[in-house]
Amino acid sequence: MSKKKIAVVGAGIAGLVAALELDKVGMQVSVFEKSSGSGGRAKTTNRDSFNLNLGPHALYSMGSLNKYLAANGIELSGNYPATKRSAAIYGDKVVDLPVDVKHLLRTKYLNVFEKLEYAKFFGEVAKIDTEKLMNTTITDWLNSQFKSKKVRQTVEAFVRLSTYGNNPDIFSVGAGIKQLQLALNGVRYLDGGWQKITEALSKKLSPNVKMHFDSAVTSLNSSAQGVSLTVNGNEKEFDAVILCVPPNVVNSLIPGTVSDAVPSYASCLDVCLKKLPNPNATFALGIDEPLYLSVHSAAANLGPAGSAMIHVAYYCGSNQTEPSHEARLEKILDQLQPGWRNELVFKRFLPHMAASFGTPLAKLSGAPGLESPNLQGVENVYVCGDFVGKGYQLVDCATQSALDACKFLDQNQY
Ligand SMILES: Cc1cc2nc3c(=O)[nH]c(=O)nc-3n(C[C@H](O)[C@H](O)[C@H](O)COP(=O)(O)OP(=O)(O)OC[C@H]3O[C@@H](n4cnc5c(N)ncnc54)[C@H](O)[C@@H]3O)c2cc1C
Repeated sequence: MSKKKIAVVGAGIAGLVAALELDKVGMQVSVFEKSSGSGGRAKTTNRDSFNLNLGPHALYSMGSLNKYLAANGIELSGNYPATKRSAAIYGDKVVDLPVDVKHLLRTKYLNVFEKLEYAKFFGEVAKIDTEKLMNTTITDWLNSQFKSKKVRQTVEAFVRLSTYGNNPDIFSVGAGIKQLQLALNGVRYLDGGWQKITEALSKKLSPNVKMHFDSAVTSLNSSAQGVSLTVNGNEKEFDAVILCVPPNVVNSLIPGTVSDAVPSYASCLDVCLKKLPNPNATFALGIDEPLYLSVHSAAANLGPAGSAMIHVAYYCGSNQTEPSHEARLEKILDQLQPGWRNELVFKRFLPHMAASFGTPLAKLSGAPGLESPNLQGVENVYVCGDFVGKGYQLVDCATQSALDACKFLDQNQY
């Protein structure tokens, strides 16, 4: 049987996983990436001996990507963020974040009844049957479960932290709690940043895989015989194509394909310091405001010895027109890391980054936009990314949908 010629469009993590899977079964794979290198949103910037991800990136230990890496013999070093120096930002106060019994007893923003209500939820969260809650929104569920507004806000803050979503009126609470359960199984910050993932996946590709950078795909025509792509103005023919690109690019190539994907944006302030002014505040979560701060260098090796790398973020929900929040994020740093400006090596502000292109929607029973990588009515074209499939989020959704796309392609081709 002659080798099937497959094009993978996009060299983010989904594209690399798809390329590796197809390469393993002997298909002839060409990857087209519009930028000058691989990684997509999992890129790491190397500057002044620091390695910065595009905003805070944590790898879920029990998630699809981590399992896929392990199954392919890829082991990456890094560490679990410590919880013992965690703060909650409530109004203008910084108090203990109830991450364990000791912090819950100590924290000042919850009264004794609220502490009991909160402890009951976290005592039972692992057992919640999330499938039954897929059609319910976070807002409706929180309103029906908790008496205390502060407990409601705190649970919502932890779901927001796990999912990157700040759109509780449409977000499926089943999907939200499922992701919280996954987060409670542990997340890791990686030494050297997420470039280590893309480097390791790229290394696994055989020389048969042809990588084409600075190669934007601008049109696509599919038929029962195969698919033709326009790449930098040239026509190229393939037996099948896997699109691993954002939903707007999928729609520009095949109009009307993705209509339901609602993105979750975050504005990120990435800060590199000569040293950490306050080693006692390595993590903070906003309770009544969608804020995040984490000293990633406290868990992972991301810069020169003794230096500090902090990610601060504002969860914007699906709203890209909100103000950019840069000043608000700097104010949290002033509060938690006073003196940080004197230690500054450099900072970078990234407004409205698409942390996910697909929010799991209650109206779609927890699906994030496109339910399957296998497009109905479009022959030999498959789509993957963090807005495709069901039951996974963020990079695990991108990974899982890439694996599923390869399975469909394999089934349909042979
Ligand atoms: C701020 C932020 C924080 C995040 N934190 C986490 C986290 O903590 N945990 C987690 O699991 N996930 C996190 N994510 C999500 C994770 O980064 C993404 O889910 C994952 O990287 C998506 O991979 P992808 O390959 O599907 O898409 P992308 O990485 O977006 O890759 C798409 C690729 O397609 C290319 N492309 C676009 N158009 C074309 C074209 N016409 N022709 C050719 N190529 C094209 C792009 O250049 C890009 O390289 C975060 C994302 C962001 C932005």
